[in-house]
Amino acid sequence: MTPDDTDARDRRIREGEELLLSRPQRLGVAKGLFVGRFVADWVMPYPTMPPEQQAALDALMPRLRTFLHDVLDPAAIDRAADIPQYVIDGLGRLGVLGLAAPVEVGGRGFSQMAYCQVMEAIGERCASTSVFVNAHHSIGLRALVLFGTPAQQQRWLPRLVRGEEIAAFALTERDAGSDAANVQTRADRSADGSHYVLNGEKRYITNAAIAQVLTVIARTSEGVTAFLVTPDMPGFAVTEPRMAKMGIRGTATGRLAFTDMRVPADHVLGAPGEGLKIALTVLDFGRTTFGACCTGAAKTSLRLAVEHANSRRQFGRSLGEFELVKKKLARMAADTYAMEAMTTVIASLIDRGLEDYMLETAILKVYTTEALWSIVNDAFQIHGGAAYFTDLPLERMVRDARINQIGEGANEVLTSFIALAGMRSPGVQLRELWDALHHPIGDLRTIWQFGLDRVSSVVRAPEVPVQDARLRPHAQRLSSLIRRLGVEVNRVLIRHREEVLDRQYEQQRIAAAAAELFASACVLSRADAELAATTRRNAARTYPVAELSLRRSLRRVRRWLAKLHENDDGAVTAAADAALGR
Ligand SMILES: Cc1cc2nc3c(=O)[nH]c(=O)nc-3n(C[C@H](O)[C@H](O)[C@H](O)COP(=O)(O)OP(=O)(O)OC[C@H]3O[C@@H](n4cnc5c(N)ncnc54)[C@H](O)[C@@H]3O)c2cc1C
Repeated sequence: MTPDDTDARDRRIREGEELLLSRPQRLGVAKGLFVGRFVADWVMPYPTMPPEQQAALDALMPRLRTFLHDVLDPAAIDRAADIPQYVIDGLGRLGVLGLAAPVEVGGRGFSQMAYCQVMEAIGERCASTSVFVNAHHSIGLRALVLFGTPAQQQRWLPRLVRGEEIAAFALTERDAGSDAANVQTRADRSADGSHYVLNGEKRYITNAAIAQVLTVIARTSEGVTAFLVTPDMPGFAVTEPRMAKMGIRGTATGRLAFTDMRVPADHVLGAPGEGLKIALTVLDFGRTTFGACCTGAAKTSLRLAVEHANSRRQFGRSLGEFELVKKKLARMAADTYAMEAMTTVIASLIDRGLEDYMLETAILKVYTTEALWSIVNDAFQIHGGAAYFTDLPLERMVRDARINQIGEGANEVLTSFIALAGMRSPGVQLRELWDALHHPIGDLRTIWQFGLDRVSSVVRAPEVPVQDARLRPHAQRLSSLIRRLGVEVNRVLIRHREEVLDRQYEQQRIAAAAAELFASACVLSRADAELAATTRRNAARTYPVAELSLRRSLRRVRRWLAKLHENDDGAVTAAADAALGR
């Protein structure tokens, strides 16, 4: 290691200590899994919408579906690499472009659960349009709704929610992609404090060239700060309006440059220095609707695959009669079921106003985007050569789905985040224990308390309450695996201490196991509610899908945890280093 490497590593370990060992936070369902607990009331009973919200959604959905099928043409949008203005106007008239914004500014005040169902329907039909709406509403306009002053909101929101103006969120730069904190765009405050002067460049920004209001993240002397920027500001330039790209081709992904651009001080969003917090909070919402859009695309893939498996005959049989096709269809159905359950549960956490669901939204983003990628691939395979031609939507759907594992936080970065944020609370306890053990006379109270906490979460598997008798064995398996994750997290933390920050192989195992446990909990909750509400005939359709999802998820948990003890880590590192020429 060079001295620079050592410095960078020490800095990351210090940052990790801060992340892992700062004060403990309230235990949510995902965080609970890391200490062997199950916070049941975050997941169960399966959430439903208040009747008036359900009625508003029911009134909108038929009109939305008619619009999506009769007016919006996803193949034409892909070919032209443009979403036509009449589609944007139509979405605006339907209220979609301000659906979750407050009614006081002209929005529809929809809950996150209802909004997610709308996004799922759009994702079912056209990925370009769902990404466009997500960039405008879930991250662009949302920043203004959450952090804008009343004056800022009155000034911009009414036109944005009607879709007369479009919003964008500009964070990414050449040196600040995954490393979002490394923003280099500078905003220097004028001597009299009346304005800031922005200099820098942004790239890969959805809606950059068509937005009238952009949230731009820049570095100031007070820290990373969010600014509301309009394209009429002198010094604002669109350097590339539409970067030619592989998928979601209808979206306008552009580059921007700011040269001595004066931004009035009252365009600061939130407080100076709060830019990263704003970005992370806004992405929380974006990731939830991401989950909904992926669920929609997964449903379309499944529908197309089922239609083809029932209609196409080879060897004198329909494709659906072959076991290797059945296997694909079954796992597509199981994963789609889990994706919908997780999205619904997480949207309800937002609606309930719970304070910290960042871990859950990160899990949702990774889980649904990875699942969709294999679901689209399975649908493609079932269609054989036909899928390769542009008269079917599958080649477009494959191209469209690929961005999801990268955008709004690359899945590797989020996997690391899930593991480290989840291990923070047990890390704090272990640090206290460590300090107590190394204190000359030892802090017996800390050691005793630690012992009690560990004993309660490790010896006793948590209760996972389900009503339906068929689901109870799965609930018991889930419970004992939650306990086991708590044990394994302790082992990892004891083995690696702060160095866990660099152990991404271990982080992935812990994060993936936690994600599967969370998915299983959501599936159990959904299946329990559906089985209670349905007829015997419908139950015969619901239960096998839920059961397969649970079996697959819980098996994957066992495999991930087993790899903590038996793995190829040394050989993997050696082979990678050889490939890297190190
Ligand atoms: C079509 C499109 C639309 C976009 N829209 C927007 C937008 O509206 N606003 C906006 O601000 N941004 C937008 N982005 C940017 C997007 O968020 C970034 O591309 C993403 O965050 C990844 O950054 P990067 O591309 O610089 O990849 P890099 O940071 O260079 O990472 C490359 C790869 O390295 C790996 N990697 C990186 N860091 C780690 C790590 N710590 N551990 C392990 N592996 C790691 C991951 O596999 C990652 O995929 C968009 C991007 C695209 C392609």
